[in-house]
Amino acid sequence: MKRKQGRNLPEVRNYNRSLVLQTIRTYSPISRIELTEITSLTPTTITSLVDEFIRKGLVKEIGNVKGEIGRSRTLISINNDAYYVLGIDLARTSISCGLVDLGGNIITSKRVSSDLYQNFPITLNNLKEVIHSLFKEIEPQVREKIVAIGIGSPGPLSPSKGIIISPPNFKGWKNVPLKEIIEREFHLPTFIENDAKACALGEKWFGSCKDIDNFVYLAIGTGVGAGIIINGEIYRGAGELAGELGHTTVDTDGPKCSCGNYGCLELYTSTGSLIERIKENLSHLVTEDPLETLFIFYRTAREGNIKAIEILNDYCFWLGIGVVNAINIFSPQAVVLGREAIMHGADLIIPRVEKLVRERSFSISSDQTKILASSIGKDTGIIGAATIALYEFYKNPYKLIKKEGV
Ligand SMILES: [Zn+2]
Repeated sequence: MKRKQGRNLPEVRNYNRSLVLQTIRTYSPISRIELTEITSLTPTTITSLVDEFIRKGLVKEIGNVKGEIGRSRTLISINNDAYYVLGIDLARTSISCGLVDLGGNIITSKRVSSDLYQNFPITLNNLKEVIHSLFKEIEPQVREKIVAIGIGSPGPLSPSKGIIISPPNFKGWKNVPLKEIIEREFHLPTFIENDAKACALGEKWFGSCKDIDNFVYLAIGTGVGAGIIINGEIYRGAGELAGELGHTTVDTDGPKCSCGNYGCLELYTSTGSLIERIKENLSHLVTEDPLETLFIFYRTAREGNIKAIEILNDYCFWLGIGVVNAINIFSPQAVVLGREAIMHGADLIIPRVEKLVRERSFSISSDQTKILASSIGKDTGIIGAATIALYEFYKNPYKLIKKEGV
């Protein structure tokens, strides 16, 4: 017989605490009366929780505003610099690490080139180094306020076990207990998540989807993956691997992919595949830096270069096919396109993808699905990873603030 999980009184208090803190974060600045209306909790519960947060320094009063019947209401907001987390974007060609406050603002960050295709010990060393060097730059009193580390990494991985399972082509990355390794080194609770899922939650909390609870985030970089947000939460699936949209077949006669499948979406839509086509046709646009190459390519397309527009149209065709598949499976409120491929070319890509989506998916479904570009920009990997740590903080703040207790 399957057990059910009831909520005992301390858990109810914890649940309400998290709900109220999250609501303050989302709608800040907000009054206690508005909190009562949004959460359906009694004014007494709201007053007691807000007082507790103010005592703990998590929340602050930031002034008054006149209410409808002339009575003034005190507005409150999250005290962003009460605590911090680290957000680490373990990308295929670089490692970025940022100090992020409770409001999702990056205070300082570091980035090093690091090739995940190198041997695992080298990458791990690079990862530890970048964190240590960031710590050196941070003042001790801020360092003490860091409560957790969030890491976004290419999958497949298991967030619940804290293990990177076996990303294709990553030398020596097999069942790596990354959570445990980082916790042992830095003595901070560490949470790992697939990078696309992390970016999706970052978009929900701090980007273009603050008011959208059901959407698919398509991360289009060196790899292509999806983060699926259902009812405001990451959907992981029974095996924690949901969202591998980049490895769905879009061409049954296509080449073999590193995942073992054939004609995967990633083979046609990754930044690498786009740069390959630019190299073949417009080689003079290619520089050492892939992001710069894309920037120049999009500029060339905007200037009306026929060949550039042809490449762009073909690229957006495949991207559009992926988006149509996502819409047909999830019927989301929005599909958000993000990461390196989109960063400098959203104005060119979004209308093309949108046109294909309107032509190819059920109109009733596509009419209600917005096609958006990520609004976070170049730091989306850091913000996404930090959001994974912030999620744990807002879920149960006192668990991470060990010194304070409840
Ligand atoms: Zn594949």
